[in-house]
Amino acid sequence: MQPSLDRLLRTSLRGFAPYKPGTSVDEVKRRYGFEHPVKLSQNENPLGTSPRALAAMQHIAALSDYDEDDHRTLKERLARPYVLDVGNVILGHGSNELVMLVFGAFVDPGDEVVLATPTFSLFRKDAQVVGGTTVEVPLRDGVHDLDAMLAAVTPKTKVVFVCDPNNPTGTRVAREALFAFAKALPSDVLLVIDQAYREYMDADGTDGVDVLRVRPATLVLRTASKIYGLASVRFGYGYASPQIVAWLDRVRLPFNVARPAAVAVLAALDDDDFIAASVANNERGMRQLGDAFARLGVHAYPSAANFVAVEVPVAAEDAYAALLERGVITRSGDGLGMPGRLRVTVGTPEENAAFLDAFEVLLATWRARPIEALT
Ligand code: PMP
Repeated sequence: MQPSLDRLLRTSLRGFAPYKPGTSVDEVKRRYGFEHPVKLSQNENPLGTSPRALAAMQHIAALSDYDEDDHRTLKERLARPYVLDVGNVILGHGSNELVMLVFGAFVDPGDEVVLATPTFSLFRKDAQVVGGTTVEVPLRDGVHDLDAMLAAVTPKTKVVFVCDPNNPTGTRVAREALFAFAKALPSDVLLVIDQAYREYMDADGTDGVDVLRVRPATLVLRTASKIYGLASVRFGYGYASPQIVAWLDRVRLPFNVARPAAVAVLAALDDDDFIAASVANNERGMRQLGDAFARLGVHAYPSAANFVAVEVPVAAEDAYAALLERGVITRSGDGLGMPGRLRVTVGTPEENAAFLDAFEVLLATWRARPIEALT
């Protein structure tokens, strides 16, 4: 008999599941035979990719050489609107990589990391990879409970995550509350403000960089995956003090940003028309969904992002499956720490309408179920 390989796997990874992305379009086509499923499950840009980014990529002449590791031009472009320095900018293979760098640079086994629950699942997963201990503080009314998170900080705390807007609820924290929290946190704890959906926030939204200006141990994370429509090239960036950036850089893989990503992002950042159209589509879609949810009497958290967490009167997994059978892909809140809700990305007006048509029909059947069927 072959000896078991169990001893190979690190102890912190036993009983550990890999990150589970949403159901793919190909899977729905294969399983249910839909030619064009409506995909509202991964918070992508329904308008596609910045046309300027696509055009810029056409002009790439060669990929045979290593690109510059520093990407100075791109860092200058990202620093400029904030009048920051290139030393304040860190680039990553998606902002996912930057989250991993935080753990690689700062979290020893047994160190504590404070985060909300539910929040973006990767924070917990990456903490587990390095053997960090997560201290998970329930949201209050769907919003980060910053008082309780502050109370959860101990001398062992290295990092605190605030996801603003929060995935999967779409909610944001109040500006004054975030500043008070940032100032009250011990100055040697890293505050990570993940703002993957920052560009969708309205004027009331907080710019994490304003927090960084008053609190040096802060890292603000952004991504090209959402509003710029570049999820597939994998590009994220962060703003922090030069010291924090230098420490994160120690852990980073060399050449972590591929040339197609750098070229596309540089063009997308100046694609004002596409950004404005994407924001407008999102605002319109949010109204379309919000009005329908109000009319149908289902609760949805107020969302500052490009997705919304809506309550369903059946198990979220069942609601998700029923929508899937009708060719609409959403995310079940069950796997996101949000039982009883679905996470629905804002699509085009047509996609939102297709989702709402299916949702309304299903809602009537769910509500008509006998009481015993609901348990
Ligand atoms: N942070 C949050 C809150 C997210 O929702 C996502 C994407 N799902 C990411 C980070 C990761 O984005 P990226 O594609 O840049 O790795």
